[in-house]
Amino acid sequence: MTYVPYHKQGTITMLAGPCSIEDPEQMEEVASALERMGLSWIRGGAFKPRSSPYSFQGLGEEGLRIIKEVGTAHHLGTLVEVVDTAHVDMMLDYVDALQIGTRNMANFELLKAVGYATAANHKPILFKRGMASTIDEWLTAAEYLTMGGNPNIMLCERGLRTFETSTRFTLDIAAVPVIHKRSLLPICVDVSHPAGQVDLVPALAKAAVAAGADALMIEVHPNPAQAKSDGPQQLTISQFEELLVQLRAIAAAVGKTIV
Ligand code: PEP
Ligand code: MN
Repeated sequence: MTYVPYHKQGTITMLAGPCSIEDPEQMEEVASALERMGLSWIRGGAFKPRSSPYSFQGLGEEGLRIIKEVGTAHHLGTLVEVVDTAHVDMMLDYVDALQIGTRNMANFELLKAVGYATAANHKPILFKRGMASTIDEWLTAAEYLTMGGNPNIMLCERGLRTFETSTRFTLDIAAVPVIHKRSLLPICVDVSHPAGQVDLVPALAKAAVAAGADALMIEVHPNPAQAKSDGPQQLTISQFEELLVQLRAIAAAVGKTIV
C-alpha cells in the first residue's frame, strides 16, 4: 500500500477516525470520507483501555481486520492503540502504526516491547503523554521507544488531569512549543479527549494548528449518538469536513498543508 510517512516537514498529519472500531460499515463510511478529503491516515481503537470494566472493551483482533481492510481499500495508513505486550507482534501484522495511550505512558515493559518490535521496521509510534506526567517524564519515557533504534516516534499531548472540571482534561497547548524547543520528535495534539464535548473541539483544533502542531488527532464517527465509546466528543463526518476547511486556512497561514 502507499501512504505518506507519519510526518513530513511542512505538513500537518491528520489522524482522524472513531474512538472505537465498531463494525465494517462504520469504518467504511469514515475511511471513504477521509480519502475523499485528501487525508492519509485513519485511527480507531480495537483494545480500549476503559475506566470501567462494564464499558465496551473493543472488538480486538476482529477490529484490526476491519481497519486493515478499509485502510487498504482507501489508501490510508492505520493507527491503533496497543495496550498489552502480548499483542504487539500480532498487531504489527495488521496496522501501519501503533499508539501508546495516556494510561500506558509509564508502562515501561510495554514501551520496551514496542520499541524492540519496531526497531528494524521503523513503524511509526504515537506516544501519548501521561495525563499526570511532566514533559520531562514523557521525554525520558520516549527513550524506551527510541533506544531500540526506531526514530519514527511522534509525541502526542492529550490533556492533563487538573482541578478544572469544565473540560474533560486540561489541554497543555504550551507543550507544543516546549517540545519543539526540547526535542527533535514531532508533536501531535489530540483535541478530542481534552475537549470531552464536540462543541469545544474546533477551538482546540485551531489553537493546535496555530501553535505549530505537526499532527492533530480528532475523533470522527458517522453517528456519534450511537457510538460505543466517547460519543459526546466525536464529530460527525460533516462537522469534521467543515472544520477541516477552517484548519486548512490556518495551516496555510503558518506555511503548512494538512495531509
Ligand atoms: C484514544 O485515543 O483512543 C485514547 C484512549 O486516548 P487516551 O489514551 O489519550 O485517553
Ligand atoms: Mn476516545
